[in-house]
This record gives sequence, structure tokens and C-alpha cells, in this order.
Amino acid sequence: MSLIRIQDLKVYYTGHGLFRKQSVTKAVDGVSLFVNDHETLGLVGESGSGKSTLGRAALLLIKPTAGSILFDGVDMMNAAVHKNRPAMKKFRREAQIVFQDPYGSLNPRMKVGKIISDPLRVHGVRGRKVLKEKALRLLELVGLPASAYDTYPYAFSGGQRQRISIARALSIGPRFIVADEPVSSLDISIQAQLLNLFKEIQEKEGVSYLFISHDLRTVAFIAHRVAVMYLGRIMELAQTKELITGPLHPYTKLLLSSIPSKDRRTTEQKEQTNGHEHGCVFYPRCGLAKDICMDISPDLKEVSPGHSVACHLY
Ligand code: SF4
Repeated sequence: MSLIRIQDLKVYYTGHGLFRKQSVTKAVDGVSLFVNDHETLGLVGESGSGKSTLGRAALLLIKPTAGSILFDGVDMMNAAVHKNRPAMKKFRREAQIVFQDPYGSLNPRMKVGKIISDPLRVHGVRGRKVLKEKALRLLELVGLPASAYDTYPYAFSGGQRQRISIARALSIGPRFIVADEPVSSLDISIQAQLLNLFKEIQEKEGVSYLFISHDLRTVAFIAHRVAVMYLGRIMELAQTKELITGPLHPYTKLLLSSIPSKDRRTTEQKEQTNGHEHGCVFYPRCGLAKDICMDISPDLKEVSPGHSVACHLY
């Protein structure tokens, strides 16, 4: 059984577009995916593809418009609506997030020891000695010295701060972590260290990740499977090696190409695409589009075992 299974998840926002016309932005538009125990699912796409919104919605940090989220077999949207406290408490403990910004996500007025042990306190762990022991173990796990316990975050580099964020996320023994662009603000050499740390932690603690990044190569390094997202939808999903060596969707090919992938649509075109109910969302950028692509949105179809693609070419 999958640890987390998202079915037809939608996150829609209403607002006002050009000429104060009411518009609906489909940040996440009918996404279905799952993450197994001890697995890393990479989620890749350009900025504005909806991947961070999907990550937050999966943790119910954003209220989804529709769909379902099964965590360990329990319908969490149902649990939230019916105020099922035991189920929600378990979910809040077992599903955590690591944010992109290692500077803004740590309270500068708290020492690292308190930052790491606070979630434990919130979840009912008592006793100063116990809390300190657990915090020191976590510091060791993420490769920071014990002296960090009594130090404020400002004394640390970006990479070290991200290690503190990881320790905080791990403190209450999660089974699932949404890692939202956790290395993209760091230098390349530090990125590699952090990615290796995520892998080591998975081996030691058995945690699963939804690993979000705009960089397909970063995701390819860490993920077992990769989902490619564009304008709120999954374009392709496959085992990492298969996706890298044999991409099918024109958008995945674009992400993999050495040409910087620029979205050349104007704001007006983007609004039109968002409001375009029927056709393929990638149509305005696709060099292989056919007539059908303008009118009918392709479903995500399995074309070989474990490899799905949303494109009329397949
Ligand atoms: Fe291109 Fe058509 Fe495939 Fe969309 S469905 S990616 S427009 S070929």
C-alpha cells in the first residue's frame, strides 16, 4: 500500500484578470500520484507549474478545492472536515515539510536546540534531559556539531541552516517529508552535500520524500520516480532512469535539453491558457502540436509499466 495517495487533487483560486474579468487559476488541476514507503518521488517543473502548491496541499497546509488524500489508508480531507483529531494529530506528526528558504524558515530568536526540540514538546514529549538528548541525536544525524545546540541560527551558513531545518522536520519521527526546493538557494557544492544527506537519512530512518525542484537533474539524482508538472497538471511520470533516457512528453524533452527553457507566453496568453478548458495546456509552446491538441486535453495514460504520459502523440 502507498504511504500517501493523492487522487484528482485540485487547487483553484478565483481572482480578477485583465479588464477586471473574473478568472480562475487552476494551480493544481486534477493531479493523481502516490508515494510508497521509503521512496522518493521527484516533482519537477518550472516556476509557476503548481508544484509547491501541490506539495502544500498534500500536507493540507493549503485547503484543496477537490480530490482526496489518503495517508496510510486514511482519507485526510475527510478527517479534516470531520475534525477527526487523532487522525489529524498522527498526520501532522508523520507528514512534515522542509522549505526552500533556510534563512526565513528558522526563528532567529530561538537557539538551535529549542528550534529542533519544539515540535517534540508540541507533540507531548516532556523532560528537559529527554528533549536535549533527542535534539543532540538529530544534530548528529544531520552532520552538525553538538555545540550547535546552544547557538543561534545567524551563526550558520545557508547549507548548515538547511541541515537545522531538516533536523527540525525529522524531530517527531515523520514517515513522509515534502522537500520544497530544499537545495535551490545553495551553492552547487553544498547542494550535492545536502542531497547526499537526504539520501542517508532515507536509508537510516526509512522516510519517504516528495522532492520538489525546478531542476530535473537535481531530482534525477535523488528520486526513484519523477513526475513532470506543467500548469497544474502532470505531463509525464516514470522511473527516473526511464524518464531521463527515454523522455516522451515534449515538455520533459524541453526540460532536459541544454537550451534554457523559457516560457515565452505573454501574461494574456497565460491567462488564456489557464482559462482554456479543453485543449492541452502545453499547446501554446509545443512544436509538435496537432489539431486535436487545441480542443481536447490529453489524459495521463500509462504507455508502458510505470510510465505515464499526457500527450496525444502517445
Ligand atoms: Fe504537444 Fe499535443 Fe502532446 Fe500537448 S498533446 S504536448 S500540444 S503534441
